[in-house]
Amino acid sequence: PGAFLSVRDLRVRFSTEDGIVNAVDGLSFDVERGKTLGIVGESGSGKSVTNLTVLGLHNRKTTAIDGEIHLDGQELLSTPEREMEKLRGNKVAMIFQDPLTALSPYYTVGRQIAEPYMKHTGASKKEAKARAIEMLDKVGIPQPATRFNDYPHQFSGGMRQRAMIAMALICDPDLLIADEPTTALDVTVQAQILDLLKDLQQEMGSAIIFITHDLGVIANMADDLLVMYAGRAVERGSVREVLQTPKHPYTWGLLSSMPRLSSPLDEALMPIPGSPPSLLNPPSGCPFHPRCAFRNEVSGGLCSSERPSLAEGRAAACHLTEDQKQTIFIDQIEPR
Ligand code: SF4
Ligand code: MG
Repeated sequence: PGAFLSVRDLRVRFSTEDGIVNAVDGLSFDVERGKTLGIVGESGSGKSVTNLTVLGLHNRKTTAIDGEIHLDGQELLSTPEREMEKLRGNKVAMIFQDPLTALSPYYTVGRQIAEPYMKHTGASKKEAKARAIEMLDKVGIPQPATRFNDYPHQFSGGMRQRAMIAMALICDPDLLIADEPTTALDVTVQAQILDLLKDLQQEMGSAIIFITHDLGVIANMADDLLVMYAGRAVERGSVREVLQTPKHPYTWGLLSSMPRLSSPLDEALMPIPGSPPSLLNPPSGCPFHPRCAFRNEVSGGLCSSERPSLAEGRAAACHLTEDQKQTIFIDQIEPR
């Protein structure tokens, strides 16, 4: 039996005025129930596109998709949109960086939390209200029965984030996708929201995909980690393995910027000269080679001619030998 969520060789391309964008280029990963997979990478690395595709929220007209996505045995890419609509908010839910993309200013917070519950369970208005108040309480909103009637602008940023979590979790989803859910919040509130998510996950046993550029947050939240670059996974392993003995030069760059928690990624990436490649015209060979300080350690010009593959399990997609991956990290990167 496969994993609870299994993504295999996913390719997502869309056409733009300038040409075809290879947003996701052969991506495979698994997430088990009750576990959190962290996905880290800069904007444009394909992490958000991947998750929109899992949710069936890509533009079906302009997007070409190959590969397979199985959720609890069901193949999602061949599932019709009407079926996907039933899954979303019910079996699969999402929380975003900005609650205002999920919450309408025109309706009360309570009504918006109750709505998916009515839609997916057929509960009455009264039952849904009771359930929404219970959820508001669960996510730590004081006086939930009163707050039920507030509009989003009457909530603080942290409370809106909590409300969005309540809305996402009201149907007890099996899979929760959290896309930079705390990036906009100050550090104290961020820590509270992350603790809340962890507690709720323990209670509900959901699988979580946690997307972030912040390795400090990942270290706290995730069991497993996928590092993405230019639409591909470049490193995979348990969080512990990847953070303690990273094997990919791109991950080394990310890690050497780690002490500055929650700084914007563009700033954090300063230790890696250059910028991420255009996905209109990705570099030949290893997509990281134009920026990689170690490409000359690999003989035969392999880095610019041959694409390194990512093996199953604990692995890094890089032509360096296992020995080199270890010794370069220990000798040159770790002491910094
Ligand atoms: Fe650097 Fe070559 Fe490894 Fe790519 S394959 S990360 S260019 S050493
Ligand atoms: Mg994004």
